[in-house]
Amino acid sequence: MSAVIPQRSADAIAQIVARVDAERWFQTMSNLSNFNRNSYSPGLFSARDWIRARFIEQRLVPSDFNFSLANITSCMPTPAPINLPNIIGRKQGARLPNEWIVIGAHYDSRNPSRCDGAANPQPGANDNASGCAGVIELANVFANVQTERSILFMCFSGEEQGLVGSRMYVNSLTASDDISKVRLMINLDMIGFAINDSHTARIESNATHQNLINELSASAALHAPELTIITSINANGGSDHVPFLQAGVPTAFTWENGATIYPHYHLASDTPANMSRARVIAGGILKMDAAVIAARAGLLPADEFASGFEPGESQARLPAEMAQLTAPEK
Ligand SMILES: [Zn+2]
Repeated sequence: MSAVIPQRSADAIAQIVARVDAERWFQTMSNLSNFNRNSYSPGLFSARDWIRARFIEQRLVPSDFNFSLANITSCMPTPAPINLPNIIGRKQGARLPNEWIVIGAHYDSRNPSRCDGAANPQPGANDNASGCAGVIELANVFANVQTERSILFMCFSGEEQGLVGSRMYVNSLTASDDISKVRLMINLDMIGFAINDSHTARIESNATHQNLINELSASAALHAPELTIITSINANGGSDHVPFLQAGVPTAFTWENGATIYPHYHLASDTPANMSRARVIAGGILKMDAAVIAARAGLLPADEFASGFEPGESQARLPAEMAQLTAPEK
């Protein structure tokens, strides 16, 4: 069972959830799908720059995590080793900055016929502009909201070559002992397709983190009743949650109902136009996740941070009643 959240904190969380804007997410996703984000394409770096600009707009502190993508033999032509960036936007926690909430998604895409991205378009709209746009949308949602813990928004690369970007990042955190700072990781990969109006979405983790699955399920029931939720404790599916789970981090993978239901998976036809019911399912997943992130990051009452910030271009101030709220329970 998840902890009972006091009513006023529950109200504050509901106000955060209400900021999720599925249409804004769709536009972000569409913009990302215009970049050739193959790991071996110069377009990947252009996409990185574009994501970084979005993070800066949300007053996040941007950084790259660079790693070598080498010894890849699974595609043609056999690629030479290259250095690739994950892009990270950090929101500093006001009270517990060394406790991190990580929300991640890969931004690279693939088309199975070639590695270099030259011969075939690979828009990767659902896989995974949808997830990376979800990360950016959540950065929008939490803009101008002070949290107790830090939130690290990140988009990984090299996922399509075997989770390389996320695995290298987790290895780095493990080597520096920073992995113990990560209190929650949520991964988004393919969040924008539903085969029918049940809008089925999946929450996956392992048995150790059943409480997190329960918390997300309860959040969906409350904030995204339009979704039909399937849960699984066999999060063996290949995406960027796996290295975090293997490192013992409380981790959940939230996504649509499996890659195999999407007829345009890894094809040139993975375009925004082919993502049926995109706004409903992605909006629902992001609302579900936003509430859990808010609860676990810890919202500070507005009067503790009211001085010294101005809303960004696209953000409204939180309603005045947030100033009345007390801090959520830890
Ligand atoms: Zn993917």
